[in-house]
Amino acid sequence: MTEGCEDDHQERFSLWLDGRLLPEQAELMAQHVAECPDCQTFYSALRRLEALFGEAGMPAPRPGFSARLQARLAARQVRHHT
Ligand SMILES: [Zn+2]
Repeated sequence: MTEGCEDDHQERFSLWLDGRLLPEQAELMAQHVAECPDCQTFYSALRRLEALFGEAGMPAPRPGFSARLQARLAARQVRHHT
């Protein structure tokens, strides 16, 4: 269990992906996901679901946001492996 990973995080994910979190809340989520393997797994699963249901009218996250998250995760991986 990762410290700081609450059950309600995963509920908050749907708000986050809908772009309904406040910017500072979204930033906290991004930071948490970058450090939490459980949430990274959950996030990937959600993104796959979202792709599946995307054509059925589910709202997509703002494009720039996931790009920033990917960059953050990538930067973190680089640090881990050096
Ligand atoms: Zn977590």
